Amino acid sequence: MIPFLDVHKINARFETKFKEQFDAFLASGYYILGNQVSLFESQFADFCGAKYCIGVGNGLDALRLIIEGYKVLGKLKDGDEVLVAANTFIATIIAIKQAGLKPVLVDCEGVNYNFNMSALKSAITAKTKAIMPVHLYGELAPMQKIKTLLKGSDILIIEDAAQAHGAESVNGKRAGNLGDAAGFSFYPTKNLGALGDGGAITTNDDALATAIKKLRNYGTSSKYVNELVGFNSRLDEIQASFLHCKLPKLEADNEKRRAVATRYCAEITNDKVTLPNYTSGKYHVFHLFVVQVENRVEFQEYLTAHKIGTLIHYPIAPHQQEALKELNTFSFPQAEMLHNHVISIPISPVMTKAQVTKVIKVINNYI
Ligand SMILES: *Cc1c(COP(=O)(O)O)cnc(C)c1O
Repeated sequence: MIPFLDVHKINARFETKFKEQFDAFLASGYYILGNQVSLFESQFADFCGAKYCIGVGNGLDALRLIIEGYKVLGKLKDGDEVLVAANTFIATIIAIKQAGLKPVLVDCEGVNYNFNMSALKSAITAKTKAIMPVHLYGELAPMQKIKTLLKGSDILIIEDAAQAHGAESVNGKRAGNLGDAAGFSFYPTKNLGALGDGGAITTNDDALATAIKKLRNYGTSSKYVNELVGFNSRLDEIQASFLHCKLPKLEADNEKRRAVATRYCAEITNDKVTLPNYTSGKYHVFHLFVVQVENRVEFQEYLTAHKIGTLIHYPIAPHQQEALKELNTFSFPQAEMLHNHVISIPISPVMTKAQVTKVIKVINNYI
């Protein structure tokens, strides 16, 4: 069996270090917002090239707290419109809604799974106050084009970097330092994953960082002095210590993911399978390797029969979800097409060469 993702194998590489960290953590008697959180925050800020990193409870909260932080600063308010790609994971949209703003969906392109730039351009109105590019599947959104489009406006750029830890633009800047603020998730399956929930915000904005630091901890900057009606969303001390062990290996792991992806792109040659458009470059960290097939059900059954795990990211378009009733009447043809045809095949830093070879062979034999 080739599992879709072997999370245990990924973490087993750190077992000795994790156990040492746990012993030290237990002995410290300090379990919330201690040294390990501050240490990881400064390490991850450095990694992203950002001035600040604030650890929070999960990726959804990271995105929400960015918006809440901007509300505290008076830069965003209830009802403001936020543009987001129609094919994103639903969390991006939920974060906007929970913070009291209005998500405005924009159709995507079939090739790079990101904004259709002309659709994005025509979606901008006087009410647009922010745009949330999602580096979906690990591929950077077209940040340079977005910045050029927004030149001269005060529309905020908030990256959803939950799938793109370490992705690098051509000028060497990393996800987390490509907009005004970025939200990350450390959900166990992400490229940098904890052993539970976790998330972080990165930004170069002093005022925003200060506001979010308060908001994550009941609106306080010193104990029992509450300046804001805040949240309880803190990165766990023990998770921060695990992440601290894993971060030094992230770049090498992303390189391994790219090596698998490069082989898939070069060696999968089946007219029935549309591959992502990739040859080389660090702009993609292949959180997922997503292909398109006409008959997805049949393709998935075929791979299951050959003991290859797959998943679908994502089977239902957000605007067609029951939870987002107000969007149900909208139509985004490209996003709908993708939601019907995409399927993700195994990719990870711990796949063996033989496993990759088998996946390629089985897919090439699909008729
Ligand atoms: C995982 C993910 C999130 C949410 O992260 P959680 O930690 O699960 O809350 C948000 N956006 C995208 C694109 C994600 O993949």
